[in-house]
Amino acid sequence: MRFLSQEQSRISRAAESVARDQLEAVASQISLTVETVQDDLLRALDAIPEERLGQTLIAWEKRNPLIRNVFIQSPDGQVVLPDREVPLTGEQSRFLRHYQTLFNGTVPWKKTLADEGGDTQPAPSFGRLSSPFNRAVLSRKPPVSFSPEPPIVGGWIPWFWETRMSFLGWVQHDPASARYGVEVEMVTLLAELLPVLPSELPVARRMALIDGSGRVVHQTGGLNGDDGAQPALRVAVGSTLPHWELALYTPDGTFESMGRGVAILSGMLVMILFVFLFGAGILLLREAHRNRKDAQQKTMFVSNVSHELKTPLTTIRMYAELLEDGRVKDPGKARRYLKTIRAESVRLTRLVNNVLDFSRLDQRCKNYLLQEVDVADLMREIIGLQQMRLQQTAMNCTSNLPEEPVPVRTDRDAVQQVVMNLIDNAVKYAASGKVLDLSLVCRGTGVFISVADRGAGIAPRDRARIFERFYRIDDSLTAESQGCGLGLSIARRMVEDLGGTLTYQPVKGGGSCFTVFIPGELNEENFNS
Ligand code: ADP
Repeated sequence: MRFLSQEQSRISRAAESVARDQLEAVASQISLTVETVQDDLLRALDAIPEERLGQTLIAWEKRNPLIRNVFIQSPDGQVVLPDREVPLTGEQSRFLRHYQTLFNGTVPWKKTLADEGGDTQPAPSFGRLSSPFNRAVLSRKPPVSFSPEPPIVGGWIPWFWETRMSFLGWVQHDPASARYGVEVEMVTLLAELLPVLPSELPVARRMALIDGSGRVVHQTGGLNGDDGAQPALRVAVGSTLPHWELALYTPDGTFESMGRGVAILSGMLVMILFVFLFGAGILLLREAHRNRKDAQQKTMFVSNVSHELKTPLTTIRMYAELLEDGRVKDPGKARRYLKTIRAESVRLTRLVNNVLDFSRLDQRCKNYLLQEVDVADLMREIIGLQQMRLQQTAMNCTSNLPEEPVPVRTDRDAVQQVVMNLIDNAVKYAASGKVLDLSLVCRGTGVFISVADRGAGIAPRDRARIFERFYRIDDSLTAESQGCGLGLSIARRMVEDLGGTLTYQPVKGGGSCFTVFIPGELNEENFNS
C-alpha cells in the first residue's frame, strides 16, 4: 500500500510537470505572437517618412484594425496629433486622458514597468537595449550584418488604466524630432492570440487566459467553468503581457486524481491477486486433505482386505487339517466341515473378485460378457449358495421368484456378484432382524431384484454416502464386522455399466431394502409379477 501511495504521488507529480510544460509552451507561444505583432508595428512606424507622418498615421488609424489611436508629440512636448484645435472625438479625448501623465512628462518615457517591478505605473521604454520593451532594437534585420544603419529608438509601453491594459508603441528618431506612435487595439491583438490556446484538451481539463485584473479572456477545454474554482496550475504569460496568466483547471483543483486512478486500479489488481492466492491456497489445502484421506483409505483398504482374507483362510485351513488328520469320524460332521470349507471359499472368491473388480473398474478395463441369462434361475442358485451362511446366522430367508424363466441379456457373473454382495451385507449388518426377503419383479423395461432385511437400517445422512468407495458407516454395528467399504460402490458401478440402477429404500418398521434394476426388453404378459 505504501508503494501504491508513493506511486500515486509520483504519477500526480509527473502529470503536474507535463501540464506545467504544456502551459509554459503555450505561454511562450503567446509571448512570441505578441512580440511579433509589436516588432512588425514598430518597424513599420520607424519606416514612415517624416514628411508624410501625420497623413500616414491617420490612414493607419482608419484602416488598420490593430491600431486604435495614433499620436504625434512635438519635441517641445505638445501633442499635435490628435489635433486639439479641431473638435476631438470621444475616443481621442479618452486616449489623451488615459496617457496624459505620459504626454505631460509626469511619467518619463524612459522608465519601464519591468525595471520598476511594480504594477501601478505604466512602463515606458526608451533608449537602446535597456528594457525588454525595446526588442525592436534587437530585432532589427538583418541582425548579423554590421550595417551603419541607426537602430530604432522606441519601444512598447504596457499601460494600465482602470484595470485594463493597453499598449502604446512609439518611435523618436532623436530628441530634436517628434515622438510619434500608436495605441494597439487590444481586441484585435487578442483575436491573434486565441488560436494559440490548444483547442483539444482532455474532457476533464480547462485552460484559461487570465488578464491582469483576474478576468478570463478566453478559455478552452471540456471542463465546465466555475468562477470560484481554483486552478490546479498557473503560469505567468511573460513580460509581453505583464500580470497575465495561463491557468489550468482540473475537477478537484489538483492532479491527484490522475495518480488516484492508477492507484485504484493497482489496488484492485492487488486485491484480485490476494483473492486468487487465497482461493489457490484453499484449493491446495483441499487437495492436500484429499490426498491425505486417499492415502489413509488405501492403507485402511490394504489392512481390511488382508484381514478379510485371513478369516476365511483360517477357517478353511482349520477344517481341512481336521479332515486330513482323519480325526473326524462322523460322516455327517465331515460333510458339514466340507460345506463350510466350500462356503468360505465362495466368500473368499467374492472378496478377491471385489478387489479385482475394484481395480478393473478403477482403471476402466472391466469387461462384461453379455448373454441371455435366466435371472430367476440365477437367483435360486445364489440362494442355494448362501443357504448355509444364512442358517449359521439364524436368518430366515424368504424369496418371491417367478416360476417361469426370466431371460435378460446381461452379464451373469456381474449380477451374481452384485446380489451376493447385498446378501452378504444383510448377513453382516442386519442379522439381528432375522429376516431376509429376496424378490424378483419383472416389468416391460427390465427386472427388479430386491434384497430386504429387518436390521437397524441406514440413517438418512448416510444413505447417499454408502455408495461411495471406502465409505463405511461409523457405528458399532459396522465396527464389529469385517469390510472395506467397497461392496456397494462396486455393485452400483457394475449395475450402471450394465445400464441399470442400484438404489436404497428404508423398510417400514426398520431395515434396508436394496433394489437392483437390470434393463432388458421383456414381454410382461409372460410373467405374473
Ligand atoms: P463393507 O460392507 O465392506 O463395509 P459396503 O460398501 O458393502 O462396504 O457397505 C458400506 C456400508 O454400508 C457398510 O459399512 C455398512 O455400514 C452399510 N451397510 C451396507 N448394507 C447394510 C445393511 N443391509 N444394513 C445396514 N447397513 C448396511
